[in-house]
Parts: sequence; C-alpha cells; structure tokens
Amino acid sequence: MNKTIKTRTKNKIAKIVSNKRKIRRFLFNRDGTECFYCNTRLNFETATIDHLIPKSQGGSDNLDNLVLACHECNIGKGAKSLNEFIGSKLKVVV
Ligand SMILES: [Zn+2]
Repeated sequence: MNKTIKTRTKNKIAKIVSNKRKIRRFLFNRDGTECFYCNTRLNFETATIDHLIPKSQGGSDNLDNLVLACHECNIGKGAKSLNEFIGSKLKVVV
C-alpha cells in the first residue's frame, strides 16, 4: 500500500467514524439517553446504533430506521426483526 492510498483510507475511516458520532449525537437529541429496548441509561461513548429493521432484512440506514441501544440489546437483537426481538424479551419477563 503506498502512502497516498494509506492516507486516503485513513481519511475515509475518519469520515465514517465522525459520521457515526454525528448520527449518535442526533439520536441522543431525538430519543434521549436511554436504550430503545430496555431503557438502560446510555453513555455517549458506549451507546450503539441499532437498525430497527435489520439491514439483512432490507432495513435502511435512514435515521428513522436507527435507534440507540445498549451493547447487550444490540448483540441480543442481532438480525431479528423488531417484533421478534420484543417478543423474545417479553417471554423472558413472563
Ligand atoms: Zn438495552
């Protein structure tokens, strides 16, 4: 990899990271500081961005398909749809 490509790749990654931070900031302002699924209070640095409709099921990257979730919920939800995930959570509670 030559220097120019390396720098370009670095810049690209930096851009993606800063976009993610912007999205997270937007979601914090829109939805508050709690996990969308379990209401755990989130820390700005550790909150994850989750797709309501998973990308694997055709969900988009639009802001109306994105919510903040804690790490556990994001991992637990994985590629499940919103209904499947909430259904599985309710079973745990009941
Ligand atoms: Zn959660």
